[in-house]
Amino acid sequence: MRVGLGYDSHRFDESRPLRLGGVVVPDHPGLGGHSDGDAVTHAVIDALLGAAGLGSIGDLFPDTDPDLEGADSLEMLRGAVREVEAVNYQVVNVDVTVVTEAPRIGPHAGAMAARLSEVLHVPPAAVSVRGKSNEGMGWVGAGEGLAVLAVALLDAIRDLDTLHATIRSGG
Ligand code: MG
Repeated sequence: MRVGLGYDSHRFDESRPLRLGGVVVPDHPGLGGHSDGDAVTHAVIDALLGAAGLGSIGDLFPDTDPDLEGADSLEMLRGAVREVEAVNYQVVNVDVTVVTEAPRIGPHAGAMAARLSEVLHVPPAAVSVRGKSNEGMGWVGAGEGLAVLAVALLDAIRDLDTLHATIRSGG
């Protein structure tokens, strides 16, 4: 078993829709960045890569790559999962905390877990997402942006047939 920690932060950008964990959250400014700015998915990618000893999101997806401009971060996660599985690890579970004053994460947490779990090849119950305010302190408290922490646990793939059947069935 191997554990990894991912962190990401992005500044709010009024001109973009807010995407977190592959879910569009309405009625709130989005996040700046080279890709779609999905800081939840970026933190999960770093947690996976860290656990597998595969470096960081910038190694796999350089922010100088013009093909990644406005990229769907879930597709980046799909690529990271492919890398992790290629070195014979599978995801056991992922735990995510979004630190922000707004929007409220709770109403969207289930949808984010469902979207992420499809790409991670785990059941939705193996992904947990929660929000925390920063009690008004600092740049998060001032609403300049949000921060995300993610932990991922990996285990060696012991049963490739079962894993591949799960992937084929879209699970
Ligand atoms: Mg990012």
